Formats: sequence, structure tokens, C-alpha cells
Amino acid sequence: MADPTQLVYFFGDGRADGSTEMKNSLGGKGANLAEMTRIGVQVPAGFTIPTEVCNYFSDNDGTYPEGLKEQVAAALEQVEDVMGARLGSETNPLLVSCRSGARESMPGMMDTVLNIGLNEHSVQALAEHSGNAQFAWDSYRRFIQMFGDVVLEVRAGDDEHEDPFERLLEAKKKAAGVKYDSDLSAEDLQELVSEFKAEVKQRTGQDFPDEPIDQIWAAIGAVFGSWNNDRAAVYRRDYGIPHSWGTACNVQAMVYGNLGDDCATGVGLTRDCSMGAPGFNGDYLINAQGEDVVAGIRTPKRIEASLKDEMPEVYEQLETIGKTLENHYQEVQDIEFTVQKGRVWLLQTRNAKRTGFAAVRIAVDLVHEGLITPEQALEKRRIPADDLNQLLQMVFDPEKKALAETEGRLLTKGINAGPGAASGHICLTAAEAERLHNIDAETPLILVRRETSPEDLRGMRAAQGILTAFGGASSHAALVSRQMGKTCIVGANELNVDYIAGTVTVGDIVLNVGDPISIDGFTGEVFTGMVDTTESEIVNVLIKKTVEPGDSEAYQRYAQLMEWVDQFRTLGVRTNADLPEQAVQAIAFGAEGIGLCRTEHMFLEHLEEIREMILARDPETRLEAINRLLPFQQEEFTGLFRTMQGRPVTIRLLDPPLHEFLSERHLQEQPELAGTLAAQLGISIEEVRARTAELHEENPMLGHRGCRLGIVYPEITAMQARAIMQAAVAVQAEGIEVQPEVMVPLVAFQTEIDNQADIVRETADAVFAETGTTIAYQIGTMIEVPRAALRSDEIAETAEFFSFGTNDLTQTCLGMSRDDYGGFIGHYRENDIVPFDPFQSIDQGGVGRLIELGVAGGRSTRSDLKIGICGEHGGDPASVMFCHRAGLNYVSCSPYRVPIARLAAAQEALADQ
Ligand code: PEP
Ligand code: MG
Repeated sequence: MADPTQLVYFFGDGRADGSTEMKNSLGGKGANLAEMTRIGVQVPAGFTIPTEVCNYFSDNDGTYPEGLKEQVAAALEQVEDVMGARLGSETNPLLVSCRSGARESMPGMMDTVLNIGLNEHSVQALAEHSGNAQFAWDSYRRFIQMFGDVVLEVRAGDDEHEDPFERLLEAKKKAAGVKYDSDLSAEDLQELVSEFKAEVKQRTGQDFPDEPIDQIWAAIGAVFGSWNNDRAAVYRRDYGIPHSWGTACNVQAMVYGNLGDDCATGVGLTRDCSMGAPGFNGDYLINAQGEDVVAGIRTPKRIEASLKDEMPEVYEQLETIGKTLENHYQEVQDIEFTVQKGRVWLLQTRNAKRTGFAAVRIAVDLVHEGLITPEQALEKRRIPADDLNQLLQMVFDPEKKALAETEGRLLTKGINAGPGAASGHICLTAAEAERLHNIDAETPLILVRRETSPEDLRGMRAAQGILTAFGGASSHAALVSRQMGKTCIVGANELNVDYIAGTVTVGDIVLNVGDPISIDGFTGEVFTGMVDTTESEIVNVLIKKTVEPGDSEAYQRYAQLMEWVDQFRTLGVRTNADLPEQAVQAIAFGAEGIGLCRTEHMFLEHLEEIREMILARDPETRLEAINRLLPFQQEEFTGLFRTMQGRPVTIRLLDPPLHEFLSERHLQEQPELAGTLAAQLGISIEEVRARTAELHEENPMLGHRGCRLGIVYPEITAMQARAIMQAAVAVQAEGIEVQPEVMVPLVAFQTEIDNQADIVRETADAVFAETGTTIAYQIGTMIEVPRAALRSDEIAETAEFFSFGTNDLTQTCLGMSRDDYGGFIGHYRENDIVPFDPFQSIDQGGVGRLIELGVAGGRSTRSDLKIGICGEHGGDPASVMFCHRAGLNYVSCSPYRVPIARLAAAQEALADQ
């Protein structure tokens, strides 16, 4: 906060205390209301109470800092002057709204109260001043309903299916014989106000408050309090927003979109944010209040389809405002507006949330339109690296979809709000989706609702896709699923969702809870039953090669973006791949080498030999068994070297504990196995069992694995080294360059790497002598245990490269088993013991420190030491950025994460500049 004694920031009539720079204090909404006021966009006057006050409120039992009362009173007077109306006035009453607004938008997660300032007197005055009694009484009933819910917590109890106010409203509509709220007469609404008040009195034991200033303070308290409600906390955890930020509170004069047919309310986007197409678009409702659009209760009309005809001047004003805002912010804007008697007022603008598809298209288009530079296009806030994932997501297999259509399984169509394709079992409540997901995360669910509300967040997260009967492209369901990258369809009006009966009906087709359903988030089509999915357009161009690059605009934009990415990033990106097919994919996604080839999968395919090796009593038998594996290993490595065409290939020596190949569990599950092995080896069944029992370990991850295997059984290392070198010689003889890097796992002592390096070198020399060729190769180590990081200077005397195995390094640094932490990590996350899952994103304070020590130690011995990372973290944007800062040469991740890692690397390189 600029001035700690300033607790209130006024905006209105072209003047504002705040600006867009003050987002941390004023929140996104408050800062942008101030900014819009400054640049001459019409905004109703108001003021913002900064986030610091929210934090004070949270830390001090819901009390306020000294001086706030007086500053609020003074600001209210300013608002009254600018708007020419007074709070509680009996001629022209001022009504205000009270809205939350955090530093980063958290759509719908916190509270809002509208129409504050109404009571039995001011409602009469509003009726007279506006000349519209129905509007005045409707505003009053809305106010009681919202204030009742948000401030007084008059809500449906656990045993009630419906909100108590909604129940009264429905009953009133039924009694009056009307369909919409807006068809109720002033008299109906006046009665409803009395019924609402009686409901409040009955449920809370108190009268509904009449004094406007008391109403305002109660609403401010509710807004600040809502920062700590469950859904807001869940949302913050999901999106890495610190709990310490707090929300600002915006108190703003009301303007009315429900004064008549020359009034409207709406939300708009300066470009489409589902697929990114240019052009102003959005939802509006004539003669309605803002909440009606966002809550998705009445299905709004599309701005781009009909506003131009219905309200041409309004459309023009909106387009101009949209251009002004896009030019000013150099970003797609998501706005909320109200049209009062033909005049457009802006209530909010913010950088629009968008899908990964839209993010790429918009960023590339804005560069081509000259509004931003390629560097800006790559900014993290424009394209969160993880969102590229969506471009590679599955779509419905066109043939299977066509078949579903011919089979008459097209159920209905809604608005395509979140791209992707999802099939799953129908689930009608968020709680049920969450419950089912917790029992079995593999079974896909589609959450089908009339509309969603912020309470449904957890269930939306658990579902594969979301389908709603009401709401438009800016409804809660659309906004939230778009941000989550979930497939979503909204406003499928033909759907009749009956929560009590547990059915979803379209015409005479009735689906029950648990029935399969499929939704196409690109087109809005809903199918009964499952529909098979297939690869995305970009995958079809890059990997499947079923689409020509020139035929895919989406691909061309992706390619343009990635060209900029590679221009700016300095961190290399490799892939973790064991098979040539995986390597081919990874290269198509831009991988520059293999950072980890795990060799054990080859052993799993040749269990007979490896089991013989494990059971061998003497070195000769063991050697014989191992050498039978040599041709298979060599063939695999040959394939990889050929595919990689001279790019570096890091091959890791055998790592897993031997019991993964033979354990008592195997003998139990395959009753004939012990006998077969005994016969093969000419030993007794008892001996097979006894030897297998010896392999049992209490903590196999900390047991006989990694280089400890190659040290105790040097034959294994020698065989693997021979396979690598023979493959390299063979591929080099084909005229293809090779760059093998032999990597020793789980090293803690220099003597361990020395031991293994000797074997590798000896074997390589033998192969080179036999073949009369030499190959340039390197021997390096994984850094997977704290000791290796601590003694990296010594280890680097032998190791020619390092690769941080952060899966094991996290496990050993935190003393948290990578196989068993699932049992408590959920609780840890929910209770903010850890800010994220340390096996997904590097624990920078702990594991990160070890990495920094490892880098420093290693480079103190070998200044040009090549260092990478090959744990799962190599594909996590925050971890990639950390690796850039730590001075690593490359990250290595699974093929489909390669584009994400490239983008994250470029983003950090640019942030560095
Ligand atoms: C690691 O530990 O980070 C690693 C890459 O090895 P693995 O996952 O195979 O143990
Ligand atoms: Mg490991």
C-alpha cells in the first residue's frame, strides 16, 4: 500500500486514487476500476478497501484498523456527490454493491452483495424516482435474498434440496402463473419481500436490517470473511495463490440493467476464449441484473449473434470500449457491463481466462496485429506452460463420432465452453463426483448440472467433463472449467436435470445417474454412451502425420509459437524414453536428446534370463544367463541410436531392486513358476523358494538397487556396457553419428562411480579393440541421494555429467517414500502443511538446495560439467524454471511434456533478462 494510513481508494467521475499498478493492494477488480476511470471509460463511482484491511480483519477477530470507519464515511459522501443520490434518501436513494476482488481473479469463489441501501422507505423512493415499482420491489427482494444468503447465512440445510428463498420465489411464480422472475408484478414482489423477511426472522431470530450503513458494514465483513471460506481456500491451493494475499472489497454505486427494455446486463470477451477467434463476443440479457447472466439461471443471448440488431448503439459502444481496453492492456479483456437506459457502464475488466487453444491463438494473433512482441506473447500470464497440454489432448475419433450420430445417439447440443472430448458416467452432484473419484480415480465421470456454482468446485475437479443445462459461455461452469482445462458444455437447454429422481431427460430419452454420456467440448454435442477418443490436430500433424502442416491452422500457430520459444530459451530439453517410438514422438515435440533411458523394461521382457541370473549359485551360471540378454539389449540401443541421429542418448545402468523380477509374490501368483525355474536351472523347488525369500527386503527402495547391483554383480554392468558400445559401433558404421552417455544410478560415494566407471571403460576398450573402432562416450552419474549432492565435488572427479534423479532425491531428501506418500499427501495439501505435492513440483527450499549444492560442487571440480534433471519434475513448469535458475544445461521429461518444458524454459529465460 502506497500510504499505510490510506484505507480507502476512491474512483469516479474521471478521478481515481488507485491505478492498475496497485493490484496487490486493490485487487484486480479495484485496480482496474480505478484504471478504467482514469482512461475515461464510464464506471459507476465507488471505492476500494485494500487487501491489507482484509488481512487485518482476518488476524484481529473481524475488527478493522483505526480510521477505516471515517474514511469509508467520507468516500461514501464522495460517491453520493458524483452519482447525485444519497444513501437511504426518500427521494433519490443511492444503492451500492459490495464485491470481493483479489490480486488474481478467483471467479465466484468469494462473496458479493448487490442493491445495498434498500429498506421499506427507500424502496418506495426508488419506485417513484425510477417510475418503475416492479423494478424497485424486485431489487429489494434480490437484496434480501443475496444479503440473506451471504451475510445472514440463510441457506438450504443438509436435509433441504432447495434454497429457501428460491423455494418461496418458485411458489410465488407458480401462484402468479408466470414462468420468469421478471414476469412477477410489483405486488407479487412486495409480498415476496415480506415472505423473505419472515423467512429470515424465522431462521435467524432477527429482523432484516434496515439501516443502509449497517447493511454496508455487514456486507464488507462478509466479503472479507469470504476470503477464508472453504471453496476459496481450495481454489487457492489448486492455483498456487497464497492464503496471505487477502481480498480487497469494492463498494460501488449500482447502475441498473433491469429498469426496462432499454436496459441490459452482460459479460463480454474482446475475443473468443474457447478457441481464440477474434471478435467481441459474450452474453447479455435485456432487462436483467448482472447476477442473472453469471449465475446461468436464465440462458442469455449471444452478443455477436443478436445485440447488433436489438441495441445497435449499445453494440457500437461496447465494441469501442473493447478496443480501447485491449489496446490499453495489450491483452484480451473479460468485461462485465450494465446498460442503463441505452448507456453502457463498465463494472469490471480483467485479463480473460482462456483455454490453451485460445491462449496460443490469441498470443500469436496479437503479435501479428502489432499489439505485442514475441517476447510478450510468451509471458507466463498469457500462456501458462502447462496449458499447452490441452493442445495435445484427445478428441473424439471422427469415425466413432459419426457412428454415434448414425446410431441416433446425438442427445442434444449446448454451447462449446471448454474444448476436448470426454466420456464418462453421469453424476448429478459435485459431492457425489468427489466421493466416487476418491474411491476410484480411474472411472471417468461427467458432472451434469442445471448450472454450477462455486460450491461445485471440488466436484468439477473430480469430473472428466462438465455439462450444464443453463448458462452461457461466461457462466460459472464455463469459466471455471476453461481454466481447469476441462471439457465443458453449457446451456444445453433441452436437458431436463432432475436431481431428486436422479435422471437427465431429453424428450423421451431418460438417462440415469451412472449411465455413460459423452461430450464434445469443441462442438457442444452431447452423445449417449461412450465415444472413443483419438489424438488432437497437433498430434495428428506432428506424430501421426495424418494431417499436412499446411492444412492445420492450429498447428501453424503452435509451430510459430514454438519457433519463438526456441529463440529465447537457453535451457536444453531432452526426453525420458526407453523405446524408439517414444523417441520419435519426443523429437517431433522438440526433444534434443534422451536424458534417461531406463533399461529395466528390457529386462522385464526377458524375465526368464534375468530370473536365471538371480537364482544362479555361481558366477559362471550367472554370466551365462546375463550374456543371453546381451543381444536384446544391443538391439534396443541400436534402435535408439538410429532414431536419435547423433543426439545424445543417456542410458542408465540397471536400477530397480531384483525382487521386482522375482519375488515371493510372483511365486504365489504363478503356482507353476517355482517348478519351471527349478527345472530350468536343475535345482530343487525348495532352493528356488529359499533364494527368492532371500531377495525380500523391508525397504526395497533403500535396498539392493541402483549401482549397488552393478557393484555386487559386475557382470550386469559389463553386459550392459558391452551392449551399449557394440550398438554404438554398429550404428556409427551405418554412417550415423552416436553420442552415448552411460549413467550410473543411485551413487552416494565416489568409490561407487569409480568402480562402475572402471568396468564400463574396460568393456568399452575391449569392444573397440575387437572392432577396430572407437566411439566418443561419457560416463556420468545420477544424483539421487543427499550424500551425492553433498560430495558432488569428489564425484565429479570421475563423473563427466550429472543428472538429478529428483524422484529419488525427493524421496531421500524428505525421507518420504515415493510409493507410500499417497496415504497422507492429500491431508497435507488440504491442511496447507505443504503448498504442493513435492513429487510433482520440486521442493525448492529443500531438494532445490541439494541441487544447488550439487551444481556448485560438481562445477568446482569440472567447470564445464554437463548437468540435467530426469525426475518427473523435468516436465513441471515451476521446476523447469527452477532448473534454469540453478544453471542446469537441460531438463528431461516424458515426450508429451517436451513442448511444455520448452515454453517454461523460454519464459524463465525471458524473466531473467
Ligand atoms: C529419479 O529417481 O528421479 C529417476 C529418474 O529414476 P527412477 O524414477 O527410475 O528411480
Ligand atoms: Mg531414481
